[in-house]
Amino acid sequence: MSATPNAGETAVYLPSDAFVKNAHISGMAAYDALCQEAATDYQGYWGRLARELITWKTPFTQVLDESNAPFFKWFADGTLNASYNCLDRNIERGLGDKTALIFEADGGEVTKISYSELLAKTCQIANGLKSIGVGKGDRVIIYISMSIDGVAAMQACARIGAIHSVVFGGFSAQSVRDRVQDTGAKAIITADQQVRGGKHLPLKAIVDEALSLGGCESVQHVLVVKRTGAELPMTAGRDLWMSDVIAHQPTVCEPEWVEAEHPLFLLYTSGSTGKPKGVQHSTGGYLLHAALTTKWTFDLKADDVFWCTADIGWVTGHSYITYGPLALGGTEIVFEGVPTFPDAGRFWKMIQDHKVSIFYTAPTAIRSLIKAAEANAAVHPKSYDLSSLRLLGSVGEPINPAAWEWYYREVGGNRCPIVDTFWQTETGGHMITPLPGVTPMVPGSCTLPFPGIQAAIVDETGKDVPNGQGGILVVKKPWPSMIRTIWGDPDRFVKSYYPADFQGKYYLAGDGAIRDEKTGYFTITGRIDDVLNVSGHRMGTMEIESALVSCTELVAEAAVVGRPDDTTGEAICAFVVLKRSRPEGDEAKAIAKQLRDHVAKEIGPIAKPKDIRFGENLPKTRSGKIMRRLLRSLAKGEAITQDTSTLENPAILTQLDQTY
Ligand code: ATP
Ligand code: MG
Repeated sequence: MSATPNAGETAVYLPSDAFVKNAHISGMAAYDALCQEAATDYQGYWGRLARELITWKTPFTQVLDESNAPFFKWFADGTLNASYNCLDRNIERGLGDKTALIFEADGGEVTKISYSELLAKTCQIANGLKSIGVGKGDRVIIYISMSIDGVAAMQACARIGAIHSVVFGGFSAQSVRDRVQDTGAKAIITADQQVRGGKHLPLKAIVDEALSLGGCESVQHVLVVKRTGAELPMTAGRDLWMSDVIAHQPTVCEPEWVEAEHPLFLLYTSGSTGKPKGVQHSTGGYLLHAALTTKWTFDLKADDVFWCTADIGWVTGHSYITYGPLALGGTEIVFEGVPTFPDAGRFWKMIQDHKVSIFYTAPTAIRSLIKAAEANAAVHPKSYDLSSLRLLGSVGEPINPAAWEWYYREVGGNRCPIVDTFWQTETGGHMITPLPGVTPMVPGSCTLPFPGIQAAIVDETGKDVPNGQGGILVVKKPWPSMIRTIWGDPDRFVKSYYPADFQGKYYLAGDGAIRDEKTGYFTITGRIDDVLNVSGHRMGTMEIESALVSCTELVAEAAVVGRPDDTTGEAICAFVVLKRSRPEGDEAKAIAKQLRDHVAKEIGPIAKPKDIRFGENLPKTRSGKIMRRLLRSLAKGEAITQDTSTLENPAILTQLDQTY
């Protein structure tokens, strides 16, 4: 693969000829042809793919029903079962003995499970759920850490048509209670404990606490998986050990054939912008896009070992652990632990040990591992054999060009394309992303829409803006895996995603973006409310963050927000984590000056942060995203009144008080 400088400024990285030749989608002409097919016959295009990738019990006769927009229906009269598509069908194709999941526990123990074994386990759990009265349409909360049981529990719900809602194992009792109440769940699947970074942490005890907070009368049973064997109080009549419930259950369970629009799951967004919303996904359209994007974006092949490091508590873990790779008969890693335990070389060691060929992680993990690797050569990727890798991916936040370059060079050995995948909980799967055998890559840009996705950039009135001019990211046509509604709150769904500003026609992503003048490539500039107006100059916070992080000798991570300012309208406030320890006093002042000069050089003096604050870390959600709404309050000097229940490290807030 070669890096060719483009017009003297942006580096463009081309996939190697060998990669292009073997890729599922090979070359720009193939990409253009798919886009053309979708442009000419939108429904024909999605209908064709839905027939090719999904096995239907009853074939659909209508692709898209727009009669009750924006509550769109896809493949509505078709019936299918997601778990059948992910398990049975692979076995019918002769993959029964193929390893489906390679589970690596926090302490390093490895368990492999084949497709046949995973199906048997899934069926036992499914039968167990039925035996306690859970059936089609019932909601089941899954509050468990990364495990084979977690994936099987999700598949088991899908098998019987129950709607799962996975709650990330780091959430508090209050958050669990809120989700139980909002979903009206009939059962909760959890474990005695979870193990993270060598520590045993409670799960069942938090469920007990959540249920004791009241308002959870819908819950009839709590099923408890044994993970650590910790002593636990069990409430008679309510709490059951999973092992007892499934002990005598048959390993076969006829799938419940559901309509394509039957909800497969509810997932609450992480809450970096407000009260979590119960995003409702369908079975048919969702599964199609999860499978299709796994095939085209990750170029998944029969002999790949795929590793998505996301937790099943996030949508990434749904689409790229539980559903997409299994629907294609892939082999994938399920990892219980954290990237820094026993040391920050864990990811690299696991790639080496399991010969991972496709690796998908988040910028926040990459940035923290860069910091660790630069401080300690033993945990640097070059101390490991990463030659099995052929493709890398990034998701969750914009990846700063500096981090992209490091990932490409140090992890990918200048050999692996990076797919910077832009998407959301609400979109179900990738929306804007390079295809690895097609797209010349530009660090920091998620490049071009996935074939068929009508992404565009408009102004406040819904008018297209020309390339080179930033605006609001929208999707002009419905797509199969889109959010169907917000559970229990259809008005909020319409207001949030199909606002009247665009006559209710366009899906509003909530992110700002800009397209390159020449290439038309998309770059995400941040959330819409992250655009700053300083003395009449509009700037994306992301751009300033990238400038700060490009000061690679000093800065590990940066977040930029605006605060009101009497003279400039808005002032730029930067929260910075250095690669060294947090500075104070005169030293902090000197570094702040150095950073301002650096930003002035990179973007221009107008972008110099007025306030700079240093922390040992930044406030993040449990999924590792920077909580900008909190930073905005800090920048304004307001008391923190927001819900901080999803905050990973509350102690950081006090460090970030001092301005330089
Ligand atoms: P909430 O909606 O509750 O505030 P969230 O938006 O962080 O939470 P997700 O659905 O997990 O929850 O994240 C989607 C968002 O993450 C996108 O809207 C975008 O802001 C950001 N994002 C994801 N991937 C990328 C990417 N590759 N490049 C830039 N931004 C990305
Ligand atoms: Mg969001």
